[in-house]
Amino acid sequence: MKKRILLIYTGGTIGMNKSENGYAPQRGFLQEILEGIPALRNEAMPDWELLELDPLLDSSNTTVVEWNCISGIIKEHYHRFDGFVILHGTDTMAYTASALSFSLENLDKPVILTGSQIPLFEIRNDALANLLTSMLIAAEGRVREVALCFDYKLLRGNRSVKRSTSDLDAFYSPNFPPLAEMGTSISYNHMIPARMHNAPFRVQQLDKIPIGIIKVFPGIQFELFEEIMTESLKGIVLEAFGAGNIPGAADAILPIVRKAYENGTVLVICSQCLKGSVTLGAYETSSALKKAGAVCAFDMTTEAAVAKLYYLFSCGYDAETVKQKMEEDLRGEITVL
Ligand code: ASP
Repeated sequence: MKKRILLIYTGGTIGMNKSENGYAPQRGFLQEILEGIPALRNEAMPDWELLELDPLLDSSNTTVVEWNCISGIIKEHYHRFDGFVILHGTDTMAYTASALSFSLENLDKPVILTGSQIPLFEIRNDALANLLTSMLIAAEGRVREVALCFDYKLLRGNRSVKRSTSDLDAFYSPNFPPLAEMGTSISYNHMIPARMHNAPFRVQQLDKIPIGIIKVFPGIQFELFEEIMTESLKGIVLEAFGAGNIPGAADAILPIVRKAYENGTVLVICSQCLKGSVTLGAYETSSALKKAGAVCAFDMTTEAAVAKLYYLFSCGYDAETVKQKMEEDLRGEITVL
């Protein structure tokens, strides 16, 4: 029996057309191009159908609405298809991959995100290889989780980050090895066990949770950010230096940290370094954060931390439970030592 794959086009360069204002997505354009590609009708390819989101977006405009729309489509078609390929813009693909990894609970089928740096309609492009490879991986069914396929590498979705605006090798996974690499054949990483679930698949819809990100820099005037530290702010990701350090007197709790604490805002410490882990309390400059109850993101990416905050608050957990679960590995997003 031929495998069946659902392609979900959300927008993004891969299916864009030329417009007066530069590349832009256009309804029906991708379907037209796909129909003209003989490889997609090859015997070796799975059967496929294409669904387009309405409206099609440049992925910079992605919000929880689009995440819910994608997860809703997957839920609706879960039993009809063997795997799902999401065609997405590269700009926020790592956020979407992270968000889906949390909201698709007990996932037992491949959900592969891909896109490209050059649109499919251009003669020289990276789109066709990314598309064909993603479809074959989704049909093969070895990877039963949310993954990102780009430039002959398959990465865990919630470990991936976009690292280049121009290289075809646009994504990488700084703290976790690729799930698979594609050379003359597709070689899966056998050290990574297949994620299989007995519990029934379900989708957690995500709410528009008020959260923020602050990136620390030399000379940062934290008092300028105090205004945003209101009670309605549920969570904040602080991108600190190195292993979790922020400027400030060793033991003095910064007013914004105190405010977060008093307001019950969950404060998550990520690192500006892509590789390695946060260790709160390793230096004097991070011990105040530890004392103020900040959450350590360990080696989680900022993208995954943001998505996880959306998810945990959408599940209805209180701030204390969110803090606790932020430090737990839920979907392979944190390295447990
Ligand atoms: N701005 C585009 C997007 O993210 C870039 C891309 O697809 O590569 O939708």
